[in-house]
Amino acid sequence: GKTVVVVGAGMAGVQTAVALREQGWAGRILLLGAERHQPYDRPPLSKAVLLGKAEGSAFEVDFASLGIDLRLSCEVTGLRAGEHVLDTTAGPVPYDVLVIATGADPVALPGSEGVPGVHLLRTLDDAERLRPVLTEQHEIVAVGAGWIGAEFATAAREAGCRVTVVEAADRPLAGALPAEVAAHMARWYTDAGARLLTGARVAAIEPGAVVLDDGTRLPAGAVVVGIGARPATQWLVGSGIELAEDRSVAADERLRSSLPDVYAVGDCASFPSARYGVRLLVHHWDNAVQGPRTVAGNIVHGPAEGPVYDPVPYFWSEQFGRFVQYAGHHDDATDELLWRGDPRSTAWTVCWLRDGVLVALLAVGRPRDLAQGRKLIERGAVLDRARAADASVPLKAA
Ligand code: FAD
Repeated sequence: GKTVVVVGAGMAGVQTAVALREQGWAGRILLLGAERHQPYDRPPLSKAVLLGKAEGSAFEVDFASLGIDLRLSCEVTGLRAGEHVLDTTAGPVPYDVLVIATGADPVALPGSEGVPGVHLLRTLDDAERLRPVLTEQHEIVAVGAGWIGAEFATAAREAGCRVTVVEAADRPLAGALPAEVAAHMARWYTDAGARLLTGARVAAIEPGAVVLDDGTRLPAGAVVVGIGARPATQWLVGSGIELAEDRSVAADERLRSSLPDVYAVGDCASFPSARYGVRLLVHHWDNAVQGPRTVAGNIVHGPAEGPVYDPVPYFWSEQFGRFVQYAGHHDDATDELLWRGDPRSTAWTVCWLRDGVLVALLAVGRPRDLAQGRKLIERGAVLDRARAADASVPLKAA
């Protein structure tokens, strides 16, 4: 029989292996992961695992009974596509079909690599190193007010630490949300007792302090850097595979790469969205769960009958006691904002409309809006503006 080799044993890799069996793949499945831990879920790392409320977050998958050959502590270092061979730290591995699911690497703050007391938050090892830092009640500086920075600050406050969040942009989540929306989230930091410094750049990290470019010295028992993540595709450079400018594997609408018999999925892959008319690189959990079904379907049934991937992206975040959910994809420059509820209150939603059609929504403490809105986005529904602005009635198509 044929062998599918999956590189990367995170959510996307594990789900691909499982979906292959679910969809009837009878050949061999080899799942290679660089980490030494049993495959685990990442979202709890900045939440329950960080606070010590959960020991770990290993997936409940019985690899042996599914006939999935899982090899841990095995890093793939290169791809020789012409020969259908991978190079790994455990020697060469041949494949018939290859699935690249190597996820993303966190971006380090320049000059901070290897400096004691500076942490990233991507892996279980990172979370385990940070846990005692929180219990020791250090004064902590977090760099970056994105999703990870906000969740980390939430956990650190809950653990009783003093936290200052340093953000280069003029607001939190500047890469994801427009100023009108993110302005309300800045208040969440202060309300939780964290300090948020916007428009602030780190000039240097010294033992026990972070120095900003305006000369401010922030005492720091520990520094946590959350300034983004990049597709972990360095090992593919020179292999002939097409990478996009953002370093993602440039996949097609069936998640096939530019090389024959090679697919890519999850945080490492971008794909063309017919729904939104742009190439999307999604760094969220739902994409690492849905994408694998498309990959498995195409491997098992062949591209003529295999499914096309065109999801409505979805993610959630738990920050400062709030449940934040987003579905869709919006364009700040062109889409119209429509508020549902008062953003100064604890529960509100904001919708993005394009020619009256709902294309995205952000729901804070309003999971029903999210569920209803997600379906409307999928259908390309036109919203009745006046009705949609009334938070007391369910979201419905016009
Ligand atoms: P990864 O999870 O990064 O897995 C890739 C795996 O491949 C890794 O284990 C890596 O070691 C391995 N690998 C890499 N290179 C190689 C190689 N060369 N050889 C072998 N193995 C390799 N999303 C949400 O929607 N909501 C949340 O609340 C949320 N919280 C998060 C909190 C944290 C702390 C983090 C880090 C992420 C969070 N996410 C959240 C994002 C979500 O976890 C990711 O989108 C998801 O993990 C992507 O899965 P993946 O399998 O594509 O990549």
